[in-house]
Amino acid sequence: MTNLPARARLATALLRTAATLSRVSGRGDGSVIGGRVGLKVEPRLLAMLSENRQVALISGTNGKTTTTRFTAAALGALGPVATNSFGANMPTGHTTALAKMPDASNAVLEVDEHYLPQLLAEARPRVVALLNLSRDQLDRAMEVGMLAEKWRTALAAHPDVHVIANADDPMVTWAAKAVPNVTWIAGGQRWQEDSWACPECGKRLDRYGEYWRCTNCGLTRPSPQWSVDGNAVVDPTGQRAELSLQLPGQVNRNNAATALAIAAEFGVPLAEAVPQLSTVRSIAGRYAVVRRDGRRARLLLAKNPAGWLEAFDMLDPGCPVTLCLNAREVDGYDTSWIYDVDYAPVAGRQVLVTGDRRFDLAVRLQVNGIAFTVVDSFADALRAAPEGNVEVIANYTAFQDIRAEFDRVN
Ligand SMILES: [Zn+2]
Repeated sequence: MTNLPARARLATALLRTAATLSRVSGRGDGSVIGGRVGLKVEPRLLAMLSENRQVALISGTNGKTTTTRFTAAALGALGPVATNSFGANMPTGHTTALAKMPDASNAVLEVDEHYLPQLLAEARPRVVALLNLSRDQLDRAMEVGMLAEKWRTALAAHPDVHVIANADDPMVTWAAKAVPNVTWIAGGQRWQEDSWACPECGKRLDRYGEYWRCTNCGLTRPSPQWSVDGNAVVDPTGQRAELSLQLPGQVNRNNAATALAIAAEFGVPLAEAVPQLSTVRSIAGRYAVVRRDGRRARLLLAKNPAGWLEAFDMLDPGCPVTLCLNAREVDGYDTSWIYDVDYAPVAGRQVLVTGDRRFDLAVRLQVNGIAFTVVDSFADALRAAPEGNVEVIANYTAFQDIRAEFDRVN
């Protein structure tokens, strides 16, 4: 930090002031506005603050916030870690995360998929973890294949970076193969609708269980070095470590495997990294339990078809479930993607439907042959469920509304 040029020091000071002012005036944690101010004063601030640090980047459609938290926890074994733990995953947020922790020699940054090329160029990461790619926010996001190509091109320009990639996702695999040094994870891919065609040649991919290969050009699922077996992670040497995660679902065990692979690359032994993952209980309200009138509601965030499938996998059998759907700007206004999701896993339990677009979801469930009740608000949904556990799956702004109702539960 003391090595920074005067202009960068000034930019950092102004960034912190702006972030603090924004925070005390109740406008969120101030990461975005702080970063904006800092980068205005010194456009190379992100690059300057990344120098002399070991940086890990984590990107993908789903799971990046959780994997970032797991990784930051694991690297905590080595000392302080700079990380954008509030999910501000664009360069403004990254700049703030680094500015707030000037003495942290390690940094773990969650990166929005579209910003990965810029972060590769500016943060000069040691490790990049690529989780998955699937459709998200249909009405404005780039098509999945184009995003994979963007990643592949960006990685090809940085052949020294060590990539940790999900071998189960053909799009991710193809992008990762742009660099020579890849560690492959059996990271899972429950949602396969965005990868039926080979990203290399466009012909059909054959699948046998988790194995996949192109029928034309021979692009094939790489043999994974890290995998999850039951509740244990298996590392490249065959060493097993039992996980004791606070977070539910197969997808979080897979996220843990990726975090442990990054930690191993930074020199944290498996036996030291694994217990650190148990300290992660909830992430900005995700997986948190809120209580009211004898109901204990567990909050699951699901923003896109792949996310909804993963959330269904986490549901307690027989437990009532509330589904909350909004379609505001950050959610995307188009809800047609709900027809891509098979809601069969919620059948046979009490299903309550709420949110701004509850009637869209109601029609979808009717077509899917699932019994449900529409209610006007989340509070009504809780009242309609019997006392005890309730599962809640909400998309982004619906989730934030519920958090706000419970004092921004973390
Ligand atoms: Zn092919």
